[in-house]
Amino acid sequence: MEFLKRVCSEHSDGRLCDFCESHPWVGPESERIPQPIPDPKNPPHYKSVFCTPVRNDDGSRRDPDDWQPRAQLKRLFNSSEITLNDTDAIKEYATKFAVDEKYVRSYLEHLTTLRLKESIRSTQSQTDKSKRDLKRYNEYDWLDMSLKGIATTNCQRT
Ligand SMILES: [Zn+2]
Repeated sequence: MEFLKRVCSEHSDGRLCDFCESHPWVGPESERIPQPIPDPKNPPHYKSVFCTPVRNDDGSRRDPDDWQPRAQLKRLFNSSEITLNDTDAIKEYATKFAVDEKYVRSYLEHLTTLRLKESIRSTQSQTDKSKRDLKRYNEYDWLDMSLKGIATTNCQRT
């Protein structure tokens, strides 16, 4: 975790905590270490830490993960702005975020698999539920269920 003196004022209406109040900066005030940003003029490198801004143009703090390749790819994937079949979008993304195309692809494959698994699970649970709903009283093996001790649980399901 990163701690920076006087940043507590950003979270509590401009007030400083007791520690920052009683321990001011001795030397020049320091800023946080900025999250890296790819350098479009020198792909696939990142900008020097000295040229990377800590804040947005309006002085507000940059969003967390604003240039984090996985986080941003996941966001685009979830909003359907990029898919595995979209070669142009993948190329563009790889250049913009300074990552190898194959890693963009493999992460997209991973996200696609997760989505597929999720849809299989929800379809399966839907099927299970409708099967359960359609089951009639005499289709249950009541003796077996009471011996296994699951009869009460099943009865409570409606
Ligand atoms: Zn503080």
